[in-house]
Amino acid sequence: MPELPEVETIVRGLAATIVGKCIERAEVRLPKIAVAPLGTQFARALSGERIAGVRRRGKYAIVDLQSGRSLVTSLRMTGRLVVQRTGEADFPGTHVVLWFRGGRRLSFADVRTFGRMRLVEAAEPWDRDLGVEPLSSGFTPQGFLSMLAGRTTPIKALLLDQRRVAGIGNIYACEALWEARIRPSRPARALTKAATGRLHRAIVDVLHRAIDSRGTSVDDYVDAGGLRGGFQNALAVYGRLGRPCLRCGHPIVRTVLGQRGTWWCRRCQR
Ligand SMILES: [Zn+2]
Repeated sequence: MPELPEVETIVRGLAATIVGKCIERAEVRLPKIAVAPLGTQFARALSGERIAGVRRRGKYAIVDLQSGRSLVTSLRMTGRLVVQRTGEADFPGTHVVLWFRGGRRLSFADVRTFGRMRLVEAAEPWDRDLGVEPLSSGFTPQGFLSMLAGRTTPIKALLLDQRRVAGIGNIYACEALWEARIRPSRPARALTKAATGRLHRAIVDVLHRAIDSRGTSVDDYVDAGGLRGGFQNALAVYGRLGRPCLRCGHPIVRTVLGQRGTWWCRRCQR
């Protein structure tokens, strides 16, 4: 499931290939995937638009258009956003295709069909419920401490709550908690100031390292060029049930917290 580092990698790939291109035609093969404001026809609204920029917010990839509108894509479980050349075969489950002048195309494929491509107006506050960007200057140790204060929610569930910190999913929540030596089920308010500081550093650190490795491909994730990431080879706990903890050698366990599989070390995460 693409999280912040995977979406960031996709966005960087798109920025390098589609900015400045003109959409000749948009093709919608599965209507429920392509959402437009009431009274707007998705495909018609896109035809003739030029790509002004590509950016990320949380786990969303945003393609900004010259008209001021934006195309906001959530990849959810199995979504792919890939630039393809003429003659390259479609990925399975290709639902929306933007054809550019010159033959290249941007394909949105999603075999499980949970993902969405939303056309939003310039002033539409579509991201008002999203929390702070963990790699922005707005994510401070002090702000994080206040975010946790008084909350009985298990710290891992709080990390997954997109209204608090945007972009962290199951993989990086598990990894950051391991790095900070914090038990995932600990109530957020029970973290000391020192532990909160460690977790803040671990979140920033693990996200940066994952971006440097172009994301984690444990499932369907590929970047904008169709290539897999490399961070799956650097994971400390996620998916490592029964394997020795890289810090203390104790076998990694998997428990379920908030209906999500949670990998951690019983010995060195407290
Ligand atoms: Zn350990």
